[in-house]
Amino acid sequence: MEFEDPADPGDLIDRRGDTGGLGGGGGSGALLGAVLGGLLAGRRRRAGGGMGILIAVIVVVFVIRGCGAAGFDLSSMSGLNRLPQAPSASPGGGLPSGGDPGEVAGADPEAADVQFANAVVTDANNVWTDQFRSAGQRYSRTKIVLYRDAVNTGCGQGSASAGPFYCPADSLVYLDLAFWNELSNRFGAGGDFARAYVIAHEVGHHVQNELGISEQVRRLEADDPSAANGETGLSVRTELQADCLAGVWAHTAYERRLLDTGDIDEALRAAQAVGDDTIQRSSVGRVRPDTFTHGTAHQRQQWFRRGYESGSSDRCDTFSVDDLDI
Ligand SMILES: [Zn+2]
Repeated sequence: MEFEDPADPGDLIDRRGDTGGLGGGGGSGALLGAVLGGLLAGRRRRAGGGMGILIAVIVVVFVIRGCGAAGFDLSSMSGLNRLPQAPSASPGGGLPSGGDPGEVAGADPEAADVQFANAVVTDANNVWTDQFRSAGQRYSRTKIVLYRDAVNTGCGQGSASAGPFYCPADSLVYLDLAFWNELSNRFGAGGDFARAYVIAHEVGHHVQNELGISEQVRRLEADDPSAANGETGLSVRTELQADCLAGVWAHTAYERRLLDTGDIDEALRAAQAVGDDTIQRSSVGRVRPDTFTHGTAHQRQQWFRRGYESGSSDRCDTFSVDDLDI
């Protein structure tokens, strides 16, 4: 994909040189009303019905969402060897102050990746600002925090082994750029738009946070912890909605003629690669729907596709549908 303008200064915080330090600031702005058209209303109507009962019988242990963070949750693949960072040709772009003194200022080998991440998150923020404004709502921008290996966040310690994630407590997206190598080499999902999809998905979690959806989900889970779990649980519904919202952003990119041929295929390949069933099959050799947190490959593709084809967040109500296989 190609952006019209470089995102400068953009919505990026570079903490790759940090060895610690407290991440994040306070919370985001006030929670907003349901722009997505009574998103959880449908679900609440069903709370005492069959859906609630179905969810209640599914029990599973949660990992990353324990602190309220939502990520690609690759923790089931922990122990995987970190692939070496491939140097990429990059024009300038020195490390920020506090960077690793072992690296030469002005020769940041990740400069192109930094610029791209900045461009995507800034563009997605611009798009959601417009969408919220159209609905008469205000949107507080998120930022993407780049880090290496581990980072302190408003949701506790974040680890690169869990993949990119969003922390609702500090309203920030966290990304270790080494994930791009895993995405292309281990998951077989290369290409810039695969990466754009990942970032847009995390921004989708921020949109959920801004809409108050994250908070409502947390409350529902507090009332009934088992409601989070399983193939039709709140976690999967939250994740698939973030995929759909990423698709809505991709739709705007298409309308603005930012997409190259094959971009959407790259996103769909990435969505397929990070499906719970795909990951479980490759990591533990069998699929256990009761432990799903993000949805199947098919579901992730289909909800992204729905957002992309419709361009409407109203079509992203994953909470009130009985069947997530759309
Ligand atoms: Zn997610």
